Amino acid sequence: MTDTSGNGRSGHGTGSGHGVSHGNGSGHGATGHRAGGVGASGDGSGGVREEAYDYVVVGGGTAGCVLAARLSEDPACRVCVIEGGPSDVGDEDVLKLRNWANLLDTGYDYAYPIVEQPRGNSHIVHSRARVLGGCSSHNTLISFLPFPHDLDEWVRLGAEGWDAGTLLPYRRRLLNTIRPVAEQDRNPVAHDFVNAAVNALDVPVVDDFNERPFTEGAGFFSLAYHPASGTRSSASVAYVHPVMDRPNLTLKLESWAYRLLRDGAGRLTRVRVRYADGAEGTVRAERELLLCAGAVDTPRLLMLSGIGPADALRRAGVEVLNDLPGVGENLLDHPESVIVWETPCPLPPNSAMDSDAGLFLRRDAREPGPDLMFHFYQVPFTVNTERLGLPSPQYGVCMTPNVPKSRSRGRIWLHSADPADRPALDFRYFSDPEGYDERTIVDGLRIAREVAATGPLREWLLRETAPGPDAVTDEQLSEYGRRAAHTVYHPAGTCRMGGEDDEGAVLDPLLRVRGEEGVRVVDASVFPSMPTVNPMVTVLLVAERAADLIRGRTGPAPPRGYESDVPGHTPGRHTPGLMPGEEQR
Ligand SMILES: Cc1cc2nc3c(=O)[nH]c(=O)nc-3n(C[C@H](O)[C@H](O)[C@H](O)COP(=O)(O)OP(=O)(O)OC[C@H]3O[C@@H](n4cnc5c(N)ncnc54)[C@H](O)[C@@H]3O)c2cc1C
Repeated sequence: MTDTSGNGRSGHGTGSGHGVSHGNGSGHGATGHRAGGVGASGDGSGGVREEAYDYVVVGGGTAGCVLAARLSEDPACRVCVIEGGPSDVGDEDVLKLRNWANLLDTGYDYAYPIVEQPRGNSHIVHSRARVLGGCSSHNTLISFLPFPHDLDEWVRLGAEGWDAGTLLPYRRRLLNTIRPVAEQDRNPVAHDFVNAAVNALDVPVVDDFNERPFTEGAGFFSLAYHPASGTRSSASVAYVHPVMDRPNLTLKLESWAYRLLRDGAGRLTRVRVRYADGAEGTVRAERELLLCAGAVDTPRLLMLSGIGPADALRRAGVEVLNDLPGVGENLLDHPESVIVWETPCPLPPNSAMDSDAGLFLRRDAREPGPDLMFHFYQVPFTVNTERLGLPSPQYGVCMTPNVPKSRSRGRIWLHSADPADRPALDFRYFSDPEGYDERTIVDGLRIAREVAATGPLREWLLRETAPGPDAVTDEQLSEYGRRAAHTVYHPAGTCRMGGEDDEGAVLDPLLRVRGEEGVRVVDASVFPSMPTVNPMVTVLLVAERAADLIRGRTGPAPPRGYESDVPGHTPGRHTPGLMPGEEQR
């Protein structure tokens, strides 16, 4: 049998513009054969060359970079990373944080369209980064520790062992430099947004959102970046760049994994790959195969390999190996909308990445944490409002209210067995029967107007351009808010962990794929439910803990006592990540 299915470069399963090749392309892949044993397979590979390593990491993204660095700490352990995108080393387009928006829908982006959304915006394109570091090389690097109550929810949903006391201590292991937006990057209009929110809503200013859990507040975000250079402290920069020359670490870049195969013992440890030059190969994990392709591509890869909901797989023409109904289900996101104001003149230019401040509110006092979040942009974000015929100001600002605990649930499925076909992404935005998500957006638009009508932000603004002053009733705001809706780009949950009695769980609480041996999932798809806050740091923490689970190690001992590891239980300053000068554990 000859597999002709594709890789990232030829557009298989990817978005537009994948002819882009930059930097060293397959350069690291070219050195990739040094560490692995190479031999001819005799078990279904069709004569394709097979290499073996101890661990094979599929996807050198946010989680994949953490695993690559941690597992290769042991020089005797051979680790291979198969990454669909190019290197980010020396690539200023990627490394300069403020350039993030220019990466959208380019060769660095798989840019997945979504299926029609009867109650939302069908035009949303879901960016998923195609570059070493994954979405941490493309995103805005806003960094929040997950709230303890969100992790409690994971445990209630069957993810035993993922409680706050176990997971949060891993923040001291994070290698990213995470810090509140630096003073020189704090734009006056963002300052005045924070002050207006405080004046209008009586919320506190938050100096460091990672100091302790909070229910409400406005302030500048913490970012994983280096303010002096304006560059990223992404997963690749923090974890992989410093160890790229380890002889036991092989990075195969611009290499696309498209099918998982069992080995002679029936373990799911082999992966079929198409390399940058079009050659095909099989890579085998002698210990474990680790799927880190993200919340879209990990379930896609499992389904292409016959692991997923049997009926849906048969409809797509895929032979069923393991009927796992939860694969691709439980698709979570943070949906958002937008409200835009024109300013009479250009705004001061300084910023870290144009959305440096935000606001959290708790509308329902029974909730353990915030139930409404806003990003404030010092640029007018009009991609969805223009489509509705609304004016696009040359200069302006916007607020994007989002639903931190969205109740709508979507799913991902395959159109066909062809790995080149992009999967169907159906977020089912605003479909929850109680109308909670829709209500949250309507509340958000109204509250945003309150903030904008309050000084000192008010003095900056000329007029509201989207939705504009004519939209006043709940119905009008809901209709506008849903049609102009966007995503905060946080898909998660599509291979969720869960307990033994949970038929929809894809993974056990040790991240092992049910009914399979030799394979785990480690990325945003493992989330049982969505954290209230932006999820990247949660992905990093999950990957740090996964590295311990894989190596059979226990987690970091809490040297200052359990309480000090759960921010809020003890007063004091706790910032995730290593700050300069802090001791590395
Ligand atoms: C534009 C944008 C802005 C965001 N902003 C923030 C933010 O400010 N703060 C925050 O907390 N979160 C943010 N997020 C979300 C956050 O970045 C992600 O939730 C997180 O990085 C996901 O990590 P992951 O490891 O699950 O997947 P990824 O980081 O996406 O890694 C997946 C990797 O797998 C590779 N891959 C996929 N399929 C294959 C295959 N078949 N073969 C080989 N390689 C493959 C990809 O190329 C990629 O490198 C943002 C996301 C985007 C897109």
